[in-house]
Amino acid sequence: MDKVYDIIVLGAGPAGLAAASYAGRARMDTLLIEGTKDGGQIVITNEIENYPGSLEEESGPSLIARMTKQVEKFGADRVTDTIVDVELEGKVKHLKGNHGDYYAKAVVIATGASPRPIGCPGEKEFTGKGVSYCATCDANFFEDFEVYVVGGGDSAVEEAMYLTKFARKVTLIHRRDELRAAKSIQEKAFANPKMAFMWNTTIEEIKGDGVVTSMIVKDTKTGETREIEADEEDGTFGIFVFVGFDPKSQLFEGKLEMENRYIVTDKYMHTSVPGVFAAGDVIVKHLRQVVTACGDGAVAATEAQHYVENLAD
Ligand code: NAP
Repeated sequence: MDKVYDIIVLGAGPAGLAAASYAGRARMDTLLIEGTKDGGQIVITNEIENYPGSLEEESGPSLIARMTKQVEKFGADRVTDTIVDVELEGKVKHLKGNHGDYYAKAVVIATGASPRPIGCPGEKEFTGKGVSYCATCDANFFEDFEVYVVGGGDSAVEEAMYLTKFARKVTLIHRRDELRAAKSIQEKAFANPKMAFMWNTTIEEIKGDGVVTSMIVKDTKTGETREIEADEEDGTFGIFVFVGFDPKSQLFEGKLEMENRYIVTDKYMHTSVPGVFAAGDVIVKHLRQVVTACGDGAVAATEAQHYVENLAD
């Protein structure tokens, strides 16, 4: 068997980075395993207004960069791999990756969540060809074009406002006539002259020819549908989707207690299996924010440390 770490942290978003910092700082022999996308969901967030202490404009990538440096400082090993199978029972946990096998006495799962698709015809086909889930990544492709943003939560409204810095017009499409986003965020959006709102509307189909050229939208009140076509000169428009997230918990199905695909933990981040802890967006909780993810990560790592120290040899 390869090296057995004290703690493996799976996932390098805010929860995983906080856990790896705490574990490293507690002198636990720690391995941080990150998937292909470094930093988790927060790196696709342009502005974090409500992380305690963020007085200046703080972006997802800048916060993650500082957290990553901190993990390095506290000495955790780090590897990039996709874990494809896990054995969590027993004293030594085994994580099987595409590039190797990893072993530890305790595991902190911080795999986060991924953007939820709308689920309409054409969405998959035109992803990367007009349909996007990341304004920070793709906004510049729509300099002076029209874009539509789907969703009514904090993400949709914040990212829509970010897109107004690039696009000539940003229309938010929401399935109801009231936004879910925080009032302070809504006020900014309503005051932004580049923003428009399409209420009680869903996208039924996305059409195109290489790139998005039109979409069918439905009035959720009347059931009427109509086609919105790209401006003739533009030939295309952008559709940015922010309709929530799905937990990345597939690996643990049947192995850990779950609720609606979210991992169940107690308030100390213990899962249903001894030595396995979970933190951040992947667990059952009410408030999915960077600050709560970091808090979860710190608790999970400290509990994992106590678990490892109390393990009988
Ligand atoms: P969210 O709060 O769950 O909002 C999802 C939005 O998408 C809702 O408006 C929902 O409509 C709509 N929606 C869901 N499924 C849909 C579908 N199939 N078709 C059309 N619309 C659909 O998700 P989020 O905005 O990504 O935020 C996730 C969490 O992160 C929240 O807790 C949020 O507060 C937090 N967050 C915070 C900040 C911040 O504070 N700076 C920034 C980003 C995210 P309904 O309203 O009708 O349900």
